[in-house]
Amino acid sequence: MEKLVIIGTGPAGLTAAVYAARANLEPLVLAGEVPGGQLTQTTEVENYPGFAEGILGFDLMDAMQQQAERFGARVRNEIVTKVAFTPGGVQKLTLSGGETLEAEAVVIATGARPRKLGIPSEEALWTKGVSSCATCDGAFFRNVPIAVVGGGDSALEEALFLTRFGSEVILVHRRDELRGSKIMQDRVLKNGKIRIEWNAVVDTILGEDEGHVTGIRLKDTKSGELRDVPCNAVFLAIGHIPNTDVFAGQVELADGYVVLPDPDRSLTSVEGVFAAGDCSDHVYRQAITAAGMGCRAAIDAERYLAARE
Ligand code: NAP
Repeated sequence: MEKLVIIGTGPAGLTAAVYAARANLEPLVLAGEVPGGQLTQTTEVENYPGFAEGILGFDLMDAMQQQAERFGARVRNEIVTKVAFTPGGVQKLTLSGGETLEAEAVVIATGARPRKLGIPSEEALWTKGVSSCATCDGAFFRNVPIAVVGGGDSALEEALFLTRFGSEVILVHRRDELRGSKIMQDRVLKNGKIRIEWNAVVDTILGEDEGHVTGIRLKDTKSGELRDVPCNAVFLAIGHIPNTDVFAGQVELADGYVVLPDPDRSLTSVEGVFAAGDCSDHVYRQAITAAGMGCRAAIDAERYLAARE
């Protein structure tokens, strides 16, 4: 039986692995569908402390994995397809190949994925002007028009943040009323650098031939009319989807996020199962906050295991 299985190899999972490995728990880390997590899908990371010149997302995650392995963590490229959790008991995990693992403790660090528009041009221009993280990529687009898609708090926050860089921020929303909180709406509506394209959805992101975003083709949701709006970046803020389907019915979820009954701890509704990172955090969603949550999950798991001995 494994002492500790960590599911996920983003900053939360790998930080948990570093801490657990240094505590001699020899954690088994399962890499999941996107080894290294969301950061491997971005380019430069400029806001992770310790890298004055920035670091490539892939390199950062590679270094985290090596750091965890140096202390005895074992990383396997496996996908968990089923779990059977027992409070305070043996935790069972089934892998895609059919193998079943047993563990005394589990850390869920499966992350979240940004909801996408689902149009081909979005895939073609991903990281070439299309992004889902203004905090990560906004500073690359100075003095050019920037589009933000969505009408919730994330979109409003990103639009306001991006006014620091863009010559103009074009907020594209599919209805004639914003979803975000009143205070955020007021800030956006008062900001002279933000223009709202109401009742509009993105039909196509333009720039495939040029290899970078040159504009968006909007479709009016009422008239069906198409119009082109020039811009050099498109930030999607249409929600995130936590990667927690496999845990439904086994651990308490709310809107798909793993519930942490005590927000100051990493304990889930099941004793012996802990959670960290974007799968349990819809507010901050940063690599560094995920890493911090991974640290506390490893410490909580270590204390849980020590108390059982
Ligand atoms: P959200 O509230 O679910 O908003 C998603 C937005 O994207 C909505 O406006 C939705 O349009 C739009 N949308 C969804 N699918 C779309 C599609 N396929 N095409 C075009 N538009 C689409 O998500 P969120 O903004 O990420 O916020 C998530 C939670 O975190 C919320 O509870 C929010 O309050 C909270 N949050 C809080 C803060 C803060 O307090 N500072 C900051 C960020 C997030 P409709 O409106 O038409 O549904």
